[in-house]
Amino acid sequence: MKNTAKIYFDNNATTYLQPEVVVCMRGLMKEPLNPSSLHSFGRRARNIVEEVRKKILEKLNASNMRLVFTASGTESNNLALKGLSGYKIITSNIEHPSILNNSHIDMVHISVDKNGLVNLEELDKVLHNEFNLGNEKLLVSVMLANNETGVIEPLKEIVKIAKKYKALVHSDAVQALGKIQLDILDLGLDLITISAHKMGGPVGVAALIFNKNVKLESIIEGGAQEKNYRAGTENVLAIAGWGAAITNLKNEKNIFLEKLRGELETAILQITSQTIICASQVLRLPNTSCILMPNVSGETQLIDFDLNNIAISTGSACSSGKITTSHVLKSMGIEENLAKNAIRVSLGVNNTLDEVVRFIEVWGNLYKRLNK
Ligand code: PLP
Repeated sequence: MKNTAKIYFDNNATTYLQPEVVVCMRGLMKEPLNPSSLHSFGRRARNIVEEVRKKILEKLNASNMRLVFTASGTESNNLALKGLSGYKIITSNIEHPSILNNSHIDMVHISVDKNGLVNLEELDKVLHNEFNLGNEKLLVSVMLANNETGVIEPLKEIVKIAKKYKALVHSDAVQALGKIQLDILDLGLDLITISAHKMGGPVGVAALIFNKNVKLESIIEGGAQEKNYRAGTENVLAIAGWGAAITNLKNEKNIFLEKLRGELETAILQITSQTIICASQVLRLPNTSCILMPNVSGETQLIDFDLNNIAISTGSACSSGKITTSHVLKSMGIEENLAKNAIRVSLGVNNTLDEVVRFIEVWGNLYKRLNK
């Protein structure tokens, strides 16, 4: 009989909650938890929030930094860019829309090469020019790992260049957390964005971590929560759930996922060597594969996989499921008629080799059917 169990290969969009997260959140769900209240219920909520804050900072080697809880990676990225008033932002062409769509901010976009790696010479040149113009408020914002291709940017080198010009460095590490090691002190970052729901935690909580000497202003008017950096009652239930996920965090490269991905990519290339696997020659997240099937649009592939109970995505599925040509692939110089054939497979800790085998079978059948 045909195996029809559902397969979830879209872990860069969001992940299953870890079992410990479910247990933790179920246990707290009925409690009134406002950390700003002064009574015992409030104090209990405050303890939960502060413990998780401390745990995240410790795990990511950032104990001397400040962590502000927000509601999403999107909000944290907005806080980093909009909260630094008067800064000129130097970013890359392949960032998430929560960086790129801050259109009213003064921004310069650095190009990437065919592998999606930021052009370091161009970055140096732009910073040099700005610095010589007397611009003292410079912020470089480059993501640690790309959500569509998994490419890992050379953040240490980027920090080194930025520091020559006294620029601050922010990194969107939403996709990196839980998949590769994340050591904030070692990377030398000034600000960093992370989000719970990409690593087995709940949707609705994320954080911006930043150096205490960074002068950041709140972008939301309201109360004095989060030491005046982010008005609004903290989502204690989600924060507690994230804490459970962080307790489980191994904070190292996930070798199991890399092995599964290796099996998948090797098998697909054996079906046809015409397949393009984006950025396969450079450092990538271990779970992500951006695959271009010859002559079949990503949309057609997504529908066929969905009919076969396999969830994948085309390009970035972050916002609406709307299918447009990926700005990331375009920036890498991939022509539109090829880029439209891209799908993104993003594996997670619950996936198995059997599931990869089923994926390959469906991929192979579709390829043969539409390439007769
Ligand atoms: N940054 C990157 C690289 C992402 O992939 C995403 C979401 O996919 C975000 C930011 C936004 O995170 P959130 O969904 O928590 O708003």
